[in-house]
Amino acid sequence: MDFALNDDQRMMVEAARRLNEKFVEPLLASHHRDKALPKSAVLMLLEKAADLGLTSARIPEKDGGAGMGLLDYGLLVEQLPPTVMLIVQPHEATTTRIHFGGSPEQRERFVPDLMAGRRIACTGSTEPDVGSDPRGIKTTATPDGNHVVLNGRKQWISNATVCDVMNVTCRIPEGSGYRMARVLVDRAESPFEANEVDMLGLRQSPLGEVLFDGCRVPQANVCPDNGDTAKLLTITWLANRPTVGLMAVHLAQRAFELAREYAGVRKQFGKAIGAYQLIQHDLAEIETAVVTSRLACYNALAALDRGERANGLSAMAKRYAVDACDRAIQLAMRIHGGMGLSRELGLEQMARDVRTLAIPDGTPGILSLIQGREITGFDGFRPA
Ligand SMILES: Cc1cc2nc3c(=O)[nH]c(=O)nc-3n(C[C@H](O)[C@H](O)[C@H](O)COP(=O)(O)OP(=O)(O)OC[C@H]3O[C@@H](n4cnc5c(N)ncnc54)[C@H](O)[C@@H]3O)c2cc1C
Repeated sequence: MDFALNDDQRMMVEAARRLNEKFVEPLLASHHRDKALPKSAVLMLLEKAADLGLTSARIPEKDGGAGMGLLDYGLLVEQLPPTVMLIVQPHEATTTRIHFGGSPEQRERFVPDLMAGRRIACTGSTEPDVGSDPRGIKTTATPDGNHVVLNGRKQWISNATVCDVMNVTCRIPEGSGYRMARVLVDRAESPFEANEVDMLGLRQSPLGEVLFDGCRVPQANVCPDNGDTAKLLTITWLANRPTVGLMAVHLAQRAFELAREYAGVRKQFGKAIGAYQLIQHDLAEIETAVVTSRLACYNALAALDRGERANGLSAMAKRYAVDACDRAIQLAMRIHGGMGLSRELGLEQMARDVRTLAIPDGTPGILSLIQGREITGFDGFRPA
């Protein structure tokens, strides 16, 4: 077992940090910090993300993707602000779903532009009445000649307002019932309404609600029924969770650096506050949260890379990291006194951003149920 990064990983991490410093942070700073980025800025970000392999991380090299290991992917995600990664990751995860779950024609038509960051993708599963339990999805795709007609609403969808392609989970009538299906809605040929939703944090990431009101989509865009669902599940949901945890680590690491610096320069009662034991204790707590969260996420990703199912580890990593980093950021704010609450410093934004990370890819409650099921073998979702 070796906890050190190898040379390739160090170079990747350095490249991502350089991109962040020279391009991403200036781009974010040049836009309103409480408003979703415009589509032009999202496309610029995706193009740069494509250079790092972040738009095709989980697509094999032989198919034109970056073919990264999941741990390497996580290392890159950790270096960039979550407000950007919550644009890039839904785009990349959707591209991966189309690559592995689409027909050859769908792959050929959609995937190259998405991998290159020339078009924007998202996945619409959540609905006003359907969140953690996607089996209740109500959006319908009713066949009509060479088309299906989509009716329904989607909610809290990352990239919805700026996307070109939405991978929509819906129900198609079959026999006397329905079957679950995925339909690729190309906005240029099948327009739909999408409106931005104002959220607590990650406010520069576009996030929207969508209305499908008789939206006609060619039958050719209905994904085949024979996708490798288990593989899709493993490489998207299971890997998304620890990488969302690493987004929280990105924030808590920055909060730690700010708090450490402030503790060294802020003087009260004649001494730097960092000389007082209570402040040192808070700093020790913050650093512990950052390191343990990072290790839990790396551990889950490394297990997935080894081919383990790692369902419990992946759920544990996200839930633990987001909670621990949330608390770490609160402590960093406290070390800053009144300054910690100022908008100028940015810690209050980190506090809002980390809270927002708790919900996508599994709420804390759902993640503990997943882990609990792995531990006990009992399904706590639907207790008798
Ligand atoms: C920033 C952000 C980005 C998102 N991006 C996307 C996206 O791109 N695409 C998409 O489809 N969705 C997206 N979502 C939606 C997200 O996936 C859902 O919000 C999430 O699945 C939870 O669903 P819900 O909000 O309806 O909560 P609910 O499922 O209604 O849950 C409410 C509460 O009940 C708890 N709960 C639910 N079931 C149980 C149970 N059996 N036992 C105990 N407790 C339970 C939950 O833990 C939670 O605390 C995003 C959300 C956010 C905040």
